[in-house]
Amino acid sequence: MQQFKNLREMMAAYSDENVYREYMEQMRWGGNPTCPFCGMNKPYRLKNGRTFRCKDKECKKDFTVTVGTIFENSKVKLSVWMAAMYLITGHKKELAAYNLVGI
Ligand SMILES: [Zn+2]
Repeated sequence: MQQFKNLREMMAAYSDENVYREYMEQMRWGGNPTCPFCGMNKPYRLKNGRTFRCKDKECKKDFTVTVGTIFENSKVKLSVWMAAMYLITGHKKELAAYNLVGI
């Protein structure tokens, strides 16, 4: 994620919720999504684009990048969380989302 001069600029650039989700997926899994229930790699991505389904025959659970984090069950949009983090971290080069997702 690039650096922005201010919050307004960041919000304008990342108005799409999926961008935040992809960013979080990258932060959490580094491009290799892993089932949080059984640890299986390479789950299927369902058509909605945000839900994964575990390939393990006995697991088969659905999950998203926010499972097991403070974002899970949150009604607040990821974009709002990211904006909050942007402010909290004080315009650092990278958002400190890593700490907030607890991994
Ligand atoms: Zn699994």
